[in-house]
Amino acid sequence: MIHSTNRAFRHVAVVGGGLGGLSAAIHLCLGGFEVTLYEANERVGGRASQITAEGFTFDTGPTLLNYPWVFEQLFGAAGYRLDEYVDLQPIDPSIRFYWPQGDHLQLTSSLTGLVREFERVAPGSSQGLFAFLADACNKYRIAFEKMACRNIDNPVKWFASLSLKEFFRTGIWRSLDREISRFFQNRFIREALGSYGMYLGGSPQELPGIFTILSYGEMAMGLWVPRGGIFTLVKGIETLARRVGVRILTGQRVKQILIREGKVAGLKLTNGRSDDCPIVISNVDVPTTQHHLLSGNGHRPSKPMKMTPSVMTFYWGVRGKIRNAGHHSIFMPQEPDKAYEELIRQKRIPRELPFYMSIASKTDPSLAPPGDSTVFILVPLPQPFHLDQEDYLALKQEIKERIFKRLGRHGIKFSTADIVTEKVMTPADWGKRFGLFQGSAFGAAHTLSQMGALRYPNKDRHVKGLYYAGASTTPGTGLPMVVISGRMTAERVCIDVC
Ligand SMILES: Cc1cc2nc3c(=O)[nH]c(=O)nc-3n(C[C@H](O)[C@H](O)[C@H](O)COP(=O)(O)OP(=O)(O)OC[C@H]3O[C@@H](n4cnc5c(N)ncnc54)[C@H](O)[C@@H]3O)c2cc1C
Repeated sequence: MIHSTNRAFRHVAVVGGGLGGLSAAIHLCLGGFEVTLYEANERVGGRASQITAEGFTFDTGPTLLNYPWVFEQLFGAAGYRLDEYVDLQPIDPSIRFYWPQGDHLQLTSSLTGLVREFERVAPGSSQGLFAFLADACNKYRIAFEKMACRNIDNPVKWFASLSLKEFFRTGIWRSLDREISRFFQNRFIREALGSYGMYLGGSPQELPGIFTILSYGEMAMGLWVPRGGIFTLVKGIETLARRVGVRILTGQRVKQILIREGKVAGLKLTNGRSDDCPIVISNVDVPTTQHHLLSGNGHRPSKPMKMTPSVMTFYWGVRGKIRNAGHHSIFMPQEPDKAYEELIRQKRIPRELPFYMSIASKTDPSLAPPGDSTVFILVPLPQPFHLDQEDYLALKQEIKERIFKRLGRHGIKFSTADIVTEKVMTPADWGKRFGLFQGSAFGAAHTLSQMGALRYPNKDRHVKGLYYAGASTTPGTGLPMVVISGRMTAERVCIDVC
């Protein structure tokens, strides 16, 4: 990290205390900047927040944690160790996929277990599995060493950083679906590995083949959860940030980023306070920043971005243990292509609803009263998605009935009567609480035209001194990626002003 020596630019304001904002703030403090972080909510963490009710503890958004090395690097940069702050538990077997007719596929980080499971589902498929893992391992290395984690804005330079051999290994010009089909003929394996695309805002037919690294990363490096839930990781990172000197102010909503003669001049808060500073890092979605925080400054928002789907999330405290389901489950439609078409292209609620369920108390019983269970359900919805309050009530009820019907089909038996506490977050709630643009859950989509050097960069194209960190800029969405994003933004600031 380059150290700041330029006194005029020593003070930096960060808008938003998601993991992207916290990571940027930590790295800037380590680089010698004075950093003040303004968070609108009462606690930091952004989408990775926490809900507690009647003895049950739920993570609000992220529940799947991968690439622990990213968090180890964050703590390591400050001279600390991740395990001094967070106790990570492996979740293995990891995700189980269910199809309506009773078929299922269980992923795991054990190679023997994977081979056994793939052979059970599709006899003879282990050869394809080995080839897939080797190929995705190469992609993973190229992606992290050369493509995702560097501040390169020029697409030509970005591609030119790869050798010809590396370029061909990325499979970037093929779709995710075609890439997976090179190794597997079995529909269940293909559909499960392709379903990871939904979080990136595209169907497996639309997203680039390099994203086989998502399922690979989970299988090869495992799926983890901190003891106490994902929010324990947030608390650890917050403690680290304060320890290195970040001034964190919560309950402080930024109203406007002030611009004078094309340069950042400071911030205005909704409580009337202001902060004169020449550098602002917005951890708020790029389009939200441009449409709302820069409005009134004569700033023109960039061209519209394709966003990832919205979500409706349910948090149920359930009396008793839930049988026949593990920690992570994904319920696939019988015809996933049709569901993606409806959700992503036609922007309507799929007739066959895919959804994800996490029962975190399976791994960490302290998250529920003794003998009880915490259930989190995530249902993707089209984006943008707008309904009146009354229609949301009806929709919640309808979706809940569909979820219970589907769970019952797989012998996962608990009823609405077993739910002792319930919270629901709609796309509108997500948008309002965290500034998510039009309620998009995961930020800007990762289609080919919105990845790497083609994604909106972490430096505003028009305003000097304005930078971005988080899910809608480079490298992309997900907890590890936004932590990397914060580091990249801090590096960019240092290079520009030191
Ligand atoms: C339901 C759901 C499930 C997910 N599951 C996973 C998962 O399992 N694994 C995974 O890795 N990722 C998951 N993700 C994605 C992951 O949560 C995000 O990519 C990541 O948390 C984004 O972090 P961020 O720093 O970019 O932004 P955010 O977390 O959105 O933080 C932005 C912060 O800015 C604040 N803010 C907004 N406006 C203002 C303002 N005007 N003034 C001051 N502060 C402001 C917000 O309150 C918020 O704290 C999930 C996301 C959702 C919504």
